[in-house]
Amino acid sequence: MKAEIICIGTELLLGQIVDTNAAFLAGELAGLGIDLYHKSTVGDNLERIAATLGQAWERSDLLLISGGLGPTQDDLTREAVARLLGEELEFNPEAWEQVVAYFRKTERPIPENNRRQAMFPKSARVAPNRWGTAPAMLVEKDKHLIMVMPGVPYELKGIWESYFKPYLKGVLQKEGSPVLTSLFVRMAGIGEAAMEEKILDLIRGQTNPTIAPYASRGEVALRITAKSQDENYNRELIARTLEAVKQRLGEYIYGYDRDNLETVIGRMLQAKKWRLALAESCTGGLIGHRITNVPGSSEYYLGGVNSYSNRLKTDLLGVSEATLAEHGAVSPETAAAMATGIRERTGTEVGLAVTGIAGPGGGSESKPVGLVFLAVALPERVVVERRVFPSDRIGNKESAAQAGLALLWRCLKESS
Ligand code: ATP
Ligand code: MG
Repeated sequence: MKAEIICIGTELLLGQIVDTNAAFLAGELAGLGIDLYHKSTVGDNLERIAATLGQAWERSDLLLISGGLGPTQDDLTREAVARLLGEELEFNPEAWEQVVAYFRKTERPIPENNRRQAMFPKSARVAPNRWGTAPAMLVEKDKHLIMVMPGVPYELKGIWESYFKPYLKGVLQKEGSPVLTSLFVRMAGIGEAAMEEKILDLIRGQTNPTIAPYASRGEVALRITAKSQDENYNRELIARTLEAVKQRLGEYIYGYDRDNLETVIGRMLQAKKWRLALAESCTGGLIGHRITNVPGSSEYYLGGVNSYSNRLKTDLLGVSEATLAEHGAVSPETAAAMATGIRERTGTEVGLAVTGIAGPGGGSESKPVGLVFLAVALPERVVVERRVFPSDRIGNKESAAQAGLALLWRCLKESS
């Protein structure tokens, strides 16, 4: 099966929004073992959308289409698909029922425009969209499979996960295609090169499963992928490789698949019945944002102080003026005092503090831009770490937040 992704929307061509849908779908296709040979982006223009779909139909079997399913005049995907199929649009009662149900749920009246969203080509089936108004569309015709999803990323993901992906898996199974199974092994506290070095022989000798390293800001991962006719057998193969990986890299592994540092930290704090408070300077609340992205974080996260100025470091955290004067705001001493201060003043078991120079200005010979001190205050001890990040302001803030979480994870692991 050869696949093609087509994203529709003029704002994508103008560079106003980043095409995350295509990246998401491409990753999903790779995970299913489906070959993707083309991705295209086309504006809200019926002729050009129809031409793009025609070309895709010629060279691909599976068309994944994103966007242009809304109710307004520039939402033209339904028309273009109808033209491709040589069919008329007709009112689809099932699609309409979905639109009506959505408006009822959100307690709003239905604008007349929204009837457009229930106009489907005759051979299209309705795929449920519980996340928005636009009913998604599935077409099977002349050995082609077309899946049309709304452009809003969380709607697209919802429909994909709950409907289109399982549907595709069923099709692949019927064809007798091998099943791909993957496990992401997530690590912190080690760089990509160092990680690869430790498992170079495994990577070189790989056939099934395959092992691929991934790196993003402050974090590396390994993808282990097995391929056979049987998902259970795949899991066995992966488990064996994972054992070998653990022997070399076990101390850095913090989680798997959808885990991230903040979810794992949340589970560790809950297991210990410990609570956390933050004192953030250069990260400006980024760590608090990430901690509170986790549902249920109120169980263990009390809150934090965004102590950007020296005055708030003193007034709200109790960092002494002498410490600030002697060592400066960006120093191991101040970081430790911030972590201890927030821990004591909030009565939590754990305090995490970050102070640094995000840049572009403010650096000096002894304290360069990107210098960050991280501190974790625990019941028994205080741990301080010095890091220097090489990025721009936003990058340094993100790296500092990531490093703070990584340090916290390591401290929690060590105090178990
Ligand atoms: P709606 O019913 O909301 O109009 P739609 O199917 O018509 O849905 P679009 O109008 O194309 O979708 O896009 C809606 C919004 O979704 C866009 O403004 C944009 O924020 C986001 N979006 C659209 N396409 C993409 C994409 N390929 N990647 C990321 N975001 C996208
Ligand atoms: Mg729209």
